[in-house]
Amino acid sequence: MTDFSFDHSYARLPKRFYSASEPTIAPSPKLIKVNEQLATDLGFDPSFLKSSELADFFSGNKLDFNANPIALAYAGHQFGGWVPQLGDGRALLLGELVDKDGIRRDVHLKGSGRTPYSRGGDGKAGLGPVLREYILSEAMAALHVPTTRALAAVTTGEIIMRETPIPGAIFTRVAESHVRVGTFQYCAAIDHSEPGKNLVKTLADYVIDRHYPEALDTETPYQFLLRSIIQRQAHLIAQWMGLGFIHGVMNTDNMQIAGETIDYGPCAFIDEFHPDKKFSSIDRQGRYAWNNQPNMGLWNLARLAEALLPLLDEEESEAIKIAEAIAGEFMPTFHRRLLEIFSQKIGLPNDSEMDGFMQSTFIEMAKNKVDFTLFFRRLTQAADGASSTGLLDLFEDKDAGQKWLDDWSERFNKASSSSTDRLAGMKQINPIYIPRNHRVEQAIQAGLNGDFDLFHELVEVNSKPFEDKAGLENYELAPTSEEVVRRTFCGT
Ligand code: AMP
Ligand code: MG
Repeated sequence: MTDFSFDHSYARLPKRFYSASEPTIAPSPKLIKVNEQLATDLGFDPSFLKSSELADFFSGNKLDFNANPIALAYAGHQFGGWVPQLGDGRALLLGELVDKDGIRRDVHLKGSGRTPYSRGGDGKAGLGPVLREYILSEAMAALHVPTTRALAAVTTGEIIMRETPIPGAIFTRVAESHVRVGTFQYCAAIDHSEPGKNLVKTLADYVIDRHYPEALDTETPYQFLLRSIIQRQAHLIAQWMGLGFIHGVMNTDNMQIAGETIDYGPCAFIDEFHPDKKFSSIDRQGRYAWNNQPNMGLWNLARLAEALLPLLDEEESEAIKIAEAIAGEFMPTFHRRLLEIFSQKIGLPNDSEMDGFMQSTFIEMAKNKVDFTLFFRRLTQAADGASSTGLLDLFEDKDAGQKWLDDWSERFNKASSSSTDRLAGMKQINPIYIPRNHRVEQAIQAGLNGDFDLFHELVEVNSKPFEDKAGLENYELAPTSEEVVRRTFCGT
């Protein structure tokens, strides 16, 4: 494996972008899981993936392949409040690998000990959040949502202090990059106080080269860059909404420039639908509630546009006009994409009636406490000729459910486009399996007791979310009232 080694394009940026830092030695690392497919796509040798060296490597104890760990610097708005210096407080970038499709991807350890950006923290990660991120991010990838990926999870053999003492763990994340809105904000703040540094331009050029090379074919590459990032985020958030996914902590440091879902902390999928639903124990105001995600996405992107202002035009007033016009494209783009997604989910043409029908459907779902995922799953089955009893069972008020279903049936039957095609579309977009919160909690609890069977099973079930499999009915179902998870905790 002589030619398999990490590259370090980010470390070739100016020193202000990062700090070299070493992982803390883990006392007794044990492998929980390695994602063999992803590892193979990244070029890891199959013999390495079967070797006993995995736990040492993915704990950071014995780095290899020219890994050269750095902690990345960034800033950000957390719940609306400005924090000028955040950075990787418990994570290290080992370097970059070019995957089988030619895409450069970061390999990043999370929970590997203190760095210069740790502030008061211990730099560690608990087993619960590591298992959660593994399950959730792999499920999102299987649901075709752009996301960072899970490469490996290990326990460190150390007990760390949280609300209670818990096992320490390390998660290895793969991402198209770790540049965040907060990285641009960090650069803009330095450029502001140290004129002439031009870190925003350096970062923008790096991002264009790595993620948006098409920008170089345009006359205004930085405008193109801003517009492209906004588009990717609008599409991403529309996909979240269509799955009932709540990110939970959409701070600007958790919004990635390549448009992947990143930083799975207190995130969750909605069971019983309500548009104001939130799970995160720290989101008291509902800032990042399900239906507020597009607003907060736009708020974050406005911070990005501010950081990019000096690159948009030499005249500040002109730059502001340009930024406002581009940011103004976010909501229409988001809304268009949401309508496309919703019309596919519901098997109806995306015509002038779709918006109204979508809104009234969400109102009915909320009023009747309908389970989000089962609703679309059972509607798909009904459209496929199955009895509608299962669908109606989801409504508290069965008459309201029947009324909604009659309205939908009429629309479904009278639409002129092929119903076979629409049904096929529904099957492609409406998952049977999602990592339901109560299942994730059960897998975590078992893991905390040293039993990873449920974790492995949950990862496996969610790797093929659209394929009906006999014997897995339990994984489809909503939680019982005892099983409902009302709050999730931040991933620290
Ligand atoms: P998050 O809310 O997970 O996106 O984290 C926000 C910031 O807190 C990031 O800069 C993290 O690196 C930092 N952080 C979170 N947990 C820890 C920890 N246990 N030790 C040090 N820094 C942490
Ligand atoms: Mg974060």
